[in-house]
Amino acid sequence: MKIKSEQFKQVAIEELKTRHTRAHLDVLGLIIKQIRDASMGTFPDPTAAIDLGRAIRADSVERLPELLEEFEKNATANGAVVHWARDASEANQIILDLALERKVKRITKGKSMVTEEAGLNEVLVQNGLEVFETDLGEFIIQLLERPPFHIQGPAANIPVQEICDLFLEKGIMTEPTLEPVELGHAARVFLRDKFHHVEMGITGVNFAVAETGTILNVENEGNIRLTKSSPPIQVSVMSLEKVVPTMQETMHMLRLLCRNCTGQKIGSYVSMDNSPNTGDEIDGPRELHIVILDNGRSTFYRDPQAREILRCIRCGACMLECPVYGKIGGYPYGWAYSGPMGQVLNPLMIGREKTQDLYRACTLCGVCKAACPAGIDHPKMFLRYRAHDVEGDPRDNATRRPWQEAAFMEMFTWATKRRWRWDLGIRAVRPFINRRVEQGFIRGMKGPLEGWFESRDFPAMAKKTFHDRMRDK
Ligand code: SF4
Repeated sequence: MKIKSEQFKQVAIEELKTRHTRAHLDVLGLIIKQIRDASMGTFPDPTAAIDLGRAIRADSVERLPELLEEFEKNATANGAVVHWARDASEANQIILDLALERKVKRITKGKSMVTEEAGLNEVLVQNGLEVFETDLGEFIIQLLERPPFHIQGPAANIPVQEICDLFLEKGIMTEPTLEPVELGHAARVFLRDKFHHVEMGITGVNFAVAETGTILNVENEGNIRLTKSSPPIQVSVMSLEKVVPTMQETMHMLRLLCRNCTGQKIGSYVSMDNSPNTGDEIDGPRELHIVILDNGRSTFYRDPQAREILRCIRCGACMLECPVYGKIGGYPYGWAYSGPMGQVLNPLMIGREKTQDLYRACTLCGVCKAACPAGIDHPKMFLRYRAHDVEGDPRDNATRRPWQEAAFMEMFTWATKRRWRWDLGIRAVRPFINRRVEQGFIRGMKGPLEGWFESRDFPAMAKKTFHDRMRDK
């Protein structure tokens, strides 16, 4: 996937004009929040359940090196082959080599953010392999060649008419329909056929259990299970933070993930793989390969504050709570990860020069932190990124803010330090600011504040300050 995070502002402006995106986000946010709250209420003590989940993720990340070694030892003892990939190209090469060595032609894929991050599909297709996304949403965005709109609902914003036109154009179905169930059925018939003829299945991993060497996936469509059970070779790709110490703790995280993600107590399908087919089982792959991808994570792991983002379980709760994501959706973030978790993770992974607009597009309201079942303090990281930018701090490859902004802030600070300076400043700028007043509101302004007024009005400045008026009285 081509990274387009530097186009954040441009795409956000376009998305703000897209009526169906706005309508969809308004409704989705409300519905998911209600069902999420209701399902969290089914815990005997929801607060204690969240606290426990946060403690498990904090502990898992603090002990990451040791847990990964334990996971590798147990998964290998079970018969899986564990591969370590330093970066995306190494992971892609490992999977491509596995496919070419085994003369694989067709591959089915279960939904996986980490393979989007690595750009795996492009590499496989460029090397002549046929790749079929089997999650309905991923299948649609693969055909449309678009980034995911949301980590759980990658095509949740695409209008039914557009899906119908797409399926007709690609030969997925022959008769037009606007019935969502029929569209789903057409995609299912098309994809089910593929499962019979594929030689390799690729999935992501929701949790990797260190004490047993088990990988776990949760889903609602059953396509991941088919991808794991039908082809003779299974490759499961995980970013290194997916590991959890014990099965008991994994089960708790699973309960939290499902409730926060889709408002379910449990997803429709939970699959656990301990080993390849042992010979006396009716299905399952002959070979099980687990690729553990680092891709820069071990570098920022050394920073105790930055490593907090590795606690993320990709539930998506922070996105639908976020007032900024709630207006613009997932496209402006320009990569696999969007919303508050993407605003923290993307700068660490793809650099600050391309991602400044992401963490500056935040009101610091804190709803992401409050919603996060993994205990991530997103606003703290945004403030840190911004502070480094202001200081031109070389850590995190911070990019210094424009000198005009720094000069304005210096002047503002100077003015606010003495009452007489502030009063004088207000008197001096009032006529200038009020020049464009229409019906009591400032509708626009030239210069550095022009952008701010593009979508907002501001009440005209009163002719007299509050103090002036009190003095007159
Ligand atoms: S940052 Fe927290 S709320 Fe957001 S997706 Fe990750 S775990 Fe869920």
